[in-house]
Formats: sequence, structure tokens, C-alpha cells
Amino acid sequence: TRFISGRTPTTNAEAFERALVVTPGGVNSPVRAFRSVGGTPVFLASGHGPYVVDVEGTEYVDLVGQWGPALLGHAHPGVIAAARAAVEKGLGFGAASTGEVELAELVLDRLTLTGPDGAERRGIEKLRLVSTGTEATMTAIRLARGATGRPLLVKFAGHYHGHSDSLLSEAGSGIATLGIPGSAGITPETAAQTIVIPYNDEEALAEVFATHGDRIAAVITEAAAANMGVVPPKPGFNKLLGDTAHAHGALLIVDEVMTGFRSTAAGWWGLEEREGVPYDADLMTFGKIIGGGLPLAGLGGRAEILDLLAPLGPVYQAGTLSGNPVAVATGAAMLRGAGPEVYEHLPRVAHEIASGLSDALSAEGVAHTVAWAGSQFSIFFRDSAPQNYAEAQAQDVFRFGPYFHAMLEHGVSLPPSVYEAWFVSAAHDERAVERVLAAAVPAAKAAAAA
Ligand code: PMP
Repeated sequence: TRFISGRTPTTNAEAFERALVVTPGGVNSPVRAFRSVGGTPVFLASGHGPYVVDVEGTEYVDLVGQWGPALLGHAHPGVIAAARAAVEKGLGFGAASTGEVELAELVLDRLTLTGPDGAERRGIEKLRLVSTGTEATMTAIRLARGATGRPLLVKFAGHYHGHSDSLLSEAGSGIATLGIPGSAGITPETAAQTIVIPYNDEEALAEVFATHGDRIAAVITEAAAANMGVVPPKPGFNKLLGDTAHAHGALLIVDEVMTGFRSTAAGWWGLEEREGVPYDADLMTFGKIIGGGLPLAGLGGRAEILDLLAPLGPVYQAGTLSGNPVAVATGAAMLRGAGPEVYEHLPRVAHEIASGLSDALSAEGVAHTVAWAGSQFSIFFRDSAPQNYAEAQAQDVFRFGPYFHAMLEHGVSLPPSVYEAWFVSAAHDERAVERVLAAAVPAAKAAAAA
């Protein structure tokens, strides 16, 4: 035949060459193509614990973590067992099934806090499951518009909320990696309905609401920005967002797709509790971890808003694969496996890694800073932690490619972009940390020589 070789590629180069023939850019999600760091993308064949293995059999300590879901490490036995048990019963029905209910109960339970006064506070009251974070935020926006009858959306430069039309203006993640302002193919009318303002900027926020307040349906924010590198909100900024939106009859959508159940979700380990500044999200979006590694995401919020969704209300959303029984089973296994000890381990191991990397960079005289949101961190090649996208871009970006490749050569897989957060897992043990720290010195030398 013309396309089918009948042989699985055994080198990264061969895999990429063949991928380029049949897939645009050789990848199914742009950052995977290594465009900003150069070189041939690594094609992964398997993962176990804190490691991933490529098609050539090379093992790497993984600091990508499937971009979030691999909270317990790769191929966690409990999660795999849950997947196996679910698979045996059929891959999906497109009908209501009990696993969906159980996953929603688990999520709601984890987002319910008892305050010091003994009062119960619910992060969300209902949850609708979808298949990707993109769908979750897209639906949340439609819901906010449906609930308020207003057209406009406010988002922050450098925040990424998936790739729906309204959300790509000045977005983070791959849009930042490729250094482009947004996407072609979005009508000017649609783009005009999204107002982009700088992050952590109280004045810009006040101004946008003073000017357009009665037409704004919602402001959407990452709970802590992590798609332009890690840029946490200033203390109290999320609360200010809620207060400002609510004063104008608009909603606050907090995107927890990346942070949720990892670092800053409104759970008992959450950023809002650490900072002592609780905020009220009307809608929250989740993904990644709540699917345990399979395609699953969700949007939650107050019942009166969620009940505006079909079949109860006028806002439409649906999905053949929504609440897929295998995905809800792996998600539930993941959440059940993520107890308090996991949330103590993650920041500890992340700090060990980050401080080792930072020491090595300092020893080579490389200007850098490590920015944090919970257990997520990223390294910026600049002296101080950025507060917004413009500052995140004002760094020695050219150092990252050589740094990334030196790490890879020494057996550490980093996110292939300076604008992505780094992920650790419960499976990252001392051995994994040592391997990262051993790579830190040659990587720092490569960054210094860049
Ligand atoms: N929101 C945030 C904060 C994200 O980080 C991402 C993906 N990294 C998304 C939404 C989109 O999720 P997905 O890739 O599952 O569509």
C-alpha cells in the first residue's frame, strides 16, 4: 500500500519522518513538535512511575506528567486496575451510568470545606462531565452568557483555556510557544467579544468593568496561571475578580483544569486557604486529573447556574463520549489514590528539584528565577518572578532550548517550551530526584553557553 508499512517505528527520527507525512507538523498538539526548542520530538512508548520511555528504549525522568493527569505517576497500579475492570464491561454506552455519579460525588466531596467556624462551604454544587478542558471552558462561557444574557468575556493575556474560538486571543501554552497573537480562522465578530487585559492588574480590571460592566457575562481566569510559565495571582487578586464581577452582575469562571486537585483547587490543600483569601467562583472547570489520564473534564458551579444546562434549561451541551465509563473509573481511582500524603509529597519533591536546578544555574551565573503555584513551578530566565504575560516574555528565552536538550540528553524530559509549567508526581522518589539533579549541572552549563 502507499501508507501502511506494517512496521512500528523504532527510532524517534523514523517516527517523526513518518508522522510528518500523515499528520500536520507530525503531531496532534502543537507543543509536542519541539518547534521552540528545535530538534526531533521524542516519541514515547511507555511510562512507569516517574519515568517515560521512548521508542528507542531510552528512559527519562518525566517532568511533564501528561501535562497534569499523571498525579500518581505513570501506569499507577490502582488506576490501571480500575481501567481494566471498566474496559471488561464495555467501552461506553452513551447512556447514563453509575460511575458518572460516583465521580461527581467524589469531586463535590473534595471541594467541600469545613471552615474554622464549623460551617460547610461548597466549592461547587453540581458537575457536568465533558471530554476535554476545551469543552469545559467553552461550555462554561456559554453558560455564563446564557445565565446573564450578556455577550462579553474578559480573559487575561497569557492564560490558556483550551482552543475554542473565544479563548485563543493572546493565549498561553502553544500560542505563547509559537509566539503568535492568536489563531486564524476566528471571525472578527467573535474575537471582539473577548476583551483581553493584563494579569494581576487591578487598574485594567477596574477600567474594563467601568467601561463595559453591563455587557460583561464573565471574567475567566486560571486559578493560578501556569500556561505562560507559572505566574500566580497576587494575594487577593482572585477575590477581587469575584467581587468586581459580582458588583457588575457578571460571573467569575475559575479554570482549574490544570491546577485542580494538583496545586490550587478549592480543596482542603488549596491556594485560597493558604493565602487566607477565599474567593467565590460561580463556575469552575476541571480536567486532567479528574479523568485519571483518559479524556474527561467537567464544569461545576452553583446549582442554579448548572441547572440552566439542557435538559433542564436553555443552554445546550452534549457529548457522545461525555462521562465515558472507562474515564470516570480511572478518574475516580486517581482521586481516591490522592490522599493528604500525596499533597505533602508533591511540594516537597518539587522544591528539592527546583532548588537543585536553581543552585546549578546560579553556579553558572545564569540569571533566572523559580516561580511557584503550589507544587507547580517553572524556571524563568530573568531575575525576578513575572506578574503578567509581558514580563513572562521579557526573559532570555534563547537559553531554554539548549537547557531543554541538555536535560533530555541526561535523561530528563521537561516540557518542550519555556512557557509551560513543570509537573511532579507522587511517584517522584529520591532516585528520580537524584537523576534530575545530576542533569542540572550540564543543563546549567548549556544555558550559560547559549
Ligand atoms: N484550561 C487550562 C488551564 C489548561 O491548562 C488546559 C490545557 N493545558 C485547558 C484548559 C484545555 O484542556 P484540554 O487540553 O483538555 O482541552
